[in-house]
Amino acid sequence: MHEQTLAIHAGYEKDSMGTMAVPIYMTTAYEFRDTEHAANLFALKELGNIYTRLMNPTTDVFEKRFAALEGGVAAVGTASGMAATFYAIANVAEAGDNIIVAKQVYGGTTTLTGHTIKRFGIETRYFDVRNPSEIEALVDEKTKIILFESITNPSIDVADFDAIVAIANKHNILTCVDNTVGTPILCKPFEHGIDLSVHSASKYTTGQGLAIGGVIVERHDLVEKIKGNARYAHFNEPDESYHGLVYSDVPLPLFTLRVRLALLRDLGAAPSPFNSWLYIQGLETLPLRMKQHSSSALAIAEFLEAHPKVNKVNYPGLKTDANYALGQKYFKGGHSGLLSFEVSDKETAQKIADSTDIFSLVVNIGDSKSIITHPASTTHQQLSEKELEEAGVPGGLVRLSVGLEDTQDLIDDLVKALG
Ligand code: PLP
Repeated sequence: MHEQTLAIHAGYEKDSMGTMAVPIYMTTAYEFRDTEHAANLFALKELGNIYTRLMNPTTDVFEKRFAALEGGVAAVGTASGMAATFYAIANVAEAGDNIIVAKQVYGGTTTLTGHTIKRFGIETRYFDVRNPSEIEALVDEKTKIILFESITNPSIDVADFDAIVAIANKHNILTCVDNTVGTPILCKPFEHGIDLSVHSASKYTTGQGLAIGGVIVERHDLVEKIKGNARYAHFNEPDESYHGLVYSDVPLPLFTLRVRLALLRDLGAAPSPFNSWLYIQGLETLPLRMKQHSSSALAIAEFLEAHPKVNKVNYPGLKTDANYALGQKYFKGGHSGLLSFEVSDKETAQKIADSTDIFSLVVNIGDSKSIITHPASTTHQQLSEKELEEAGVPGGLVRLSVGLEDTQDLIDDLVKALG
């Protein structure tokens, strides 16, 4: 089936009422037929609903549809994008382990990896996404995952999947891409050998800035990389917290299964069924919206590039952009709605961000409504000068999330704000 058809139908089989729209199953728990049925569900001898912290029929449609769109085998929804990233890490790493993360990532991912998980005894080693060969020297036997963004926020670099996967596979390490900006429509990481993706569903998935959520997607046949792999002993040994279950022996996608059975069970950042329903509405139009976000963003990037007050524009769809070749290789049908540009200094950037009418001053991306952000004073405020420089966030950087308004109206708004 083609993508637009999957976006509308994947994962949903109509119930006995013939309900056209996916129902919102707003329930905490589910009745068992009898104690044997209950025992079978807990023992995974039969698959079915137990409790909404672990699974929910509305969330199930969202997960299946998202996985189908990205070309993964399974997905698990979470209460936020940050919860998805944290669970992807926590599913493999424990105290004494290390993970390798790109320097150019969303500010929350930088604080999660650089500060919060450090307190859990997990070390983060950083590499420059513009120079993936740096990864090799960071790897040791305790390295559990390599994490990076497909299009980085807000430096707008494109990760070289092939280069990262080559090093990761040489050492049998899992790779995980945050494909929030790329979206499952424009960028298909599993076609390039990436093992896992995480997304903030709060962005393009709802598409209208409606709800906070996240999702982890697993590629087909991931078990082949994990089974017998000493790095992932806990997937290959009995899990005492789940009556001796060996994840690599279960005929189900093992990574997302463990997120569900262990992390959602014990840490509990599950999505609300209502939010999952919102994500389903968003997915129906995602392919159409991403075309429009991308074409408007390209037109705006071209306008900015020609503007005398703009020193540099970061958008991989521009032929002059350093990431153009990677953008052509790993993206199909556009390069999303996120771009950034540099002006002379912090004050000028702040003045522009304060002067737009249609672009709202907001710390979000992926909304139908256009957004302007000054990262150095907001999303990246907690980063030190050095971290800001490494994340590619100078004071004069302005980020735009190009929405779905008329493109010319957006350009006129920027003409006025730039003065
Ligand atoms: N990843 C990226 C690339 C983001 O831009 C964000 C939020 O801005 C997140 C993850 C975190 O997602 P959430 O806000 O849904 O927790």
